[in-house]
Amino acid sequence: MFILFGLKTVQHALRGRPASCRRCGQLVHHGLEERSTRFTLFFVPVFTTSRSYRITCSNCGTVNSLARRQKNSLAR
Ligand SMILES: [Zn+2]
Repeated sequence: MFILFGLKTVQHALRGRPASCRRCGQLVHHGLEERSTRFTLFFVPVFTTSRSYRITCSNCGTVNSLARRQKNSLAR
């Protein structure tokens, strides 16, 4: 018997929000992106092994990593 398994990284854009950038100091829209790594079995995602969030300034393009708690506080 043979088992085919692996990891797959999926990223999708979440709704961003206006915020002030740490680098350029402008109050502009920031895009929010979620990256999740999923364990796959026969190319079918079974469960998520890790999840990370990144926020990107639309003015200067600076990318910062966010913890899940920080991401959740942005949604409020
Ligand atoms: Zn910026």
